[in-house]
Amino acid sequence: MTWFKREDNEIEPTPGHEVRTEGLWIKCEQCNKPLFKGELETNLQVCPNCGWHFKFSARQRIENLLEPGYELVDLELKSTDPLEFTDLKPYKARLAAAQKKTGLNDAIINAVGKIGEQDVVLSVMEYGFIGGSMGAVVGETIARAVDRALAAKVPLIIVSASGGARMMEGIASLMQLAKVSAGLAKLDDAGIPYISLMTDPTTGGVTASFAMLGDLNIAEPGALIGFAGPRVIEQTIRQKLPEGFQRSEFLLEHGFLDAIVPRKELKGYLLETLRWMTEARG
Ligand SMILES: [Zn+2]
Repeated sequence: MTWFKREDNEIEPTPGHEVRTEGLWIKCEQCNKPLFKGELETNLQVCPNCGWHFKFSARQRIENLLEPGYELVDLELKSTDPLEFTDLKPYKARLAAAQKKTGLNDAIINAVGKIGEQDVVLSVMEYGFIGGSMGAVVGETIARAVDRALAAKVPLIIVSASGGARMMEGIASLMQLAKVSAGLAKLDDAGIPYISLMTDPTTGGVTASFAMLGDLNIAEPGALIGFAGPRVIEQTIRQKLPEGFQRSEFLLEHGFLDAIVPRKELKGYLLETLRWMTEARG
């Protein structure tokens, strides 16, 4: 026999009264200051304290640059996994997970719309989709953006955010470099402007093709831009690399970039640039 009988009357938390703090704050990668996520969001994912540019999703970028009424296009393409590739997990499973996470079929969105009064075709890479890697779908989608710019005779802007070619598609991913570059040469022949914006990070085969082929090659502050990683280069040339190597500021200083444009000034910068580019053309 027990002396005391305890009724099971655990206190239920009142719904809506939980105090949740985790997930609301994020530490700045650069200055280590804790930042309120909501504030970061309204500040276009730029640290209000030190100006560090956090990654910006493709959707946010399009929303930020284009006037309301733009149209998202070429979203239907999907990778067929031609090599039936498996590394730590099957490529098909990686694709499915990335599609679920981003709501996109692959690492890119094309949009047609306006910046101010200027018609543009905008192609934006999504780093959140397998590191913004470029397989056949990304290559083909960019090629379609080039075709749209050619057909409508409007300027093309490509926003890169990529770890490079998608190794799970092997040679098919490398072929995209040539395909997109050939398309951009046609755009050049037609005298249609192409502006390349490099964001953090822009590396590998993307740097080695369309990202560096702009009539104007511009970048966000502090972005990592390069072909091979610094460790590979150090081992190859057997030299220590200088401070800030492969960041936007270093590339600008050494003549690889035309300008560094902070995110908040980007739209105004593009509008002004498109105006003088199209006036000169025509
Ligand atoms: Zn900061």
